[in-house]
Amino acid sequence: MNSTADATHRQDAEAEIREAALTELRSMVSACMQCGTCTATCPNSESMDLTPRRMWRALLFGDTDMVLQSKSFYLCSSCYACTLRCPRGLPLTRAMAGLKRFAARENNSALKKKGAFYRVFTDNIRRYGRVQETALMTRYFIAARDPALPFAYTPLGLKLMRKGKLHPVDRSGAGKLEAIFNKVEQMEGRP
Ligand code: SF4
Ligand code: SF4
Repeated sequence: MNSTADATHRQDAEAEIREAALTELRSMVSACMQCGTCTATCPNSESMDLTPRRMWRALLFGDTDMVLQSKSFYLCSSCYACTLRCPRGLPLTRAMAGLKRFAARENNSALKKKGAFYRVFTDNIRRYGRVQETALMTRYFIAARDPALPFAYTPLGLKLMRKGKLHPVDRSGAGKLEAIFNKVEQMEGRP
């Protein structure tokens, strides 16, 4: 097989994987009756540009771009409140997590940057048992691979420093949330 055919074959395979992932996401919310309970329940919905109810609708209507352009699924803190209260019993937290994974696979630099923050933030809490701002931002800058990014955050960093809000990394909570993370991974069938 020559290199052009090879590239076409790879693109076809990637398109198939993408479509299968979208089909799976849609199947998770296909029984949504748009009652809005998930939005009313979600503690983070006020910060979301697309409420959970509207997001499921956009997903089902094939408006994937609208879903991916929103920051809503990155704001999901996996509290499971919507999953518990959805009258249709839909796996909404799993769908939110699925959207994060889907976005991370997209060939889109803005999405990759948002995904990097989400991953680093989650790792930070898992590792230290709470948010450690200095370690969080250092790792985010490395993960985002954008040399201009630290400069954008310099004014905020200086402000926090002046107010005494930046502390050295405190490891006293290290590992304390590990059991919770492991349990969630087990519930979601992740390795
Ligand atoms: S609570 Fe369930 S049925 Fe109601 S809008 Fe949300 S996903 Fe749809
Ligand atoms: S699991 Fe996510 S979307 Fe659902 S209520 Fe909690 S924060 Fe909101």
